[in-house]
Amino acid sequence: MSTPAAPFTNVPRPPHPAGALRVRPLPDESAASYLHRLAHAYHVETRQLCEGIGITVHGHPGSTLGASEIVLSPTALHHLTVFTRIPDLELAIGKGVPAPGVPDAGQPTARWQPVEPARQPTRTCPRCTLHHTRGTTSQAWAYHRAHQRLCPQHLWWATPPTDRVSLDTRALPELLPAHHAHKRLTRRPDATAAYQWAAAITTRWYDHQQHLTPRWRNRLTRLADTNPPPAGGTSWALTGRDPVTYPETIALARHLTRTPRGQTDRNFLDHTAHALGLDRLVLPPGDLLWALIHTKQQRPRHHCL
Ligand SMILES: [Zn+2]
Repeated sequence: MSTPAAPFTNVPRPPHPAGALRVRPLPDESAASYLHRLAHAYHVETRQLCEGIGITVHGHPGSTLGASEIVLSPTALHHLTVFTRIPDLELAIGKGVPAPGVPDAGQPTARWQPVEPARQPTRTCPRCTLHHTRGTTSQAWAYHRAHQRLCPQHLWWATPPTDRVSLDTRALPELLPAHHAHKRLTRRPDATAAYQWAAAITTRWYDHQQHLTPRWRNRLTRLADTNPPPAGGTSWALTGRDPVTYPETIALARHLTRTPRGQTDRNFLDHTAHALGLDRLVLPPGDLLWALIHTKQQRPRHHCL
């Protein structure tokens, strides 16, 4: 790769002298989110900013910011690093999207590409973002891992880009101990598999209104009472599902990592009920927890996905 000796020669300059402003990326911020904030600081669009520092932009962002990512070639990243004067920029942005497969050939190029919903970044905590950006914006997107969706300081919940805003979950104080338990859980090698099983099970129970419905309804009411209504006709039931089920998801995941093998079904169900704060648990034949019980009896090798 050739390094341009004078990267800003023969290209239009941005409206301010290069590097005049210092815009730092947020932890795990998406490249599109960072470039949007950087361009905004210079009062231009992302494409104008890129072209101003010699980066050719291919494609267009979708209508929802956060649902598309901008993938930078190594040379483009170098241009950006020089422009922003942030030496570790390469490590800081764009972690969530795989390498583009775009031949670089020393060309500074950037390409917009849509990101499938499961891999999309989530909205950052607006209060942390305001603080980090010195009051310039409360909106950004970052690749949060499952245990990072709750901001433990401000109790905001990171939502997907299709949701209009993050959720203020201060009315759900039970989320904070769940967050701490989740962080402790992540130290275990089988944490990812246990969490994924638990999340799939509680999601199914929530959607089918089983086992914990009164508790979850109560939580959803508190959430709806303290937040503006979801955008675009989306239901509260869907918007609130992840934070509403979170305490039981974590309780179930911890229980799964601690349960000794070889218990009888009744024993296992009694312990599961206890972990969830229920008197008893009676599973209908098609309950997803049966699939887990039968998998556990086969002693699978848990693997991180
Ligand atoms: Zn925060």
